[in-house]
Amino acid sequence: MLHEGLEQARCQPKNPLYDAMTPQHEFTRLLGEIRGCTLCAAHLPLGPRPVVRGAMSARLLVISQAPGTRVHETGLSFNDRSGDRLRDWMGIDRDTFYDERQVAVMAMGFCYPGRDKHGGDLPPRPECAPLWHARLRPRFAEVGLTLLVGGYATRYYLPQTRRETLGATVARWREFLPQFFVLPHPSWRTTAWERQNPWFAAEALPELKSRVAALVTPPRSAPYPRR
Ligand code: SF4
Repeated sequence: MLHEGLEQARCQPKNPLYDAMTPQHEFTRLLGEIRGCTLCAAHLPLGPRPVVRGAMSARLLVISQAPGTRVHETGLSFNDRSGDRLRDWMGIDRDTFYDERQVAVMAMGFCYPGRDKHGGDLPPRPECAPLWHARLRPRFAEVGLTLLVGGYATRYYLPQTRRETLGATVARWREFLPQFFVLPHPSWRTTAWERQNPWFAAEALPELKSRVAALVTPPRSAPYPRR
């Protein structure tokens, strides 16, 4: 009887719905859904262009703020001076950073949100993280360290820090390990803060580099975009 059952099962045509349930298929479908999202299009001056990257095998997750104009144009996360600075802090080059098998990047808002009347970047769209993060982040199940870059990511994932300045939270960086490494946004505005807080370069960054190096390795080839 058992043999008969197995034989019948072998003879069944492959069910396409079963294939659709594989984790990789679901992950690809979710990325497609995110990249097709237009939920807050009415608020986006350059229109929706969700920027997100990473494979399910990624060991490092970077949760940042929102794309700037250059990232919006190229569709490549951290493809700007802030990205160069972040890579310097992490101790990795572009090829490693853009190796999706190792590093995933998701912002608090996936689309460029525009500028305020003073010329500064607007906050990430508030609809975005609640809509997508809870679905996407668990897909990066191999992640060994999550970098919270800037105040928006930090306050969202560490709500207990909402009443203090980001500088005060970064000063407590050891308390959030081993899951999170809290960082300021790596823009030029942080230069003065870094000078005033020498412990950041002397203590926090060496620890960050060491933890990153334990999780990622430079790829042998560099098939990643150099825009
Ligand atoms: S910012 Fe987020 S919620 Fe808004 S359109 Fe882009 S992906 Fe969708």
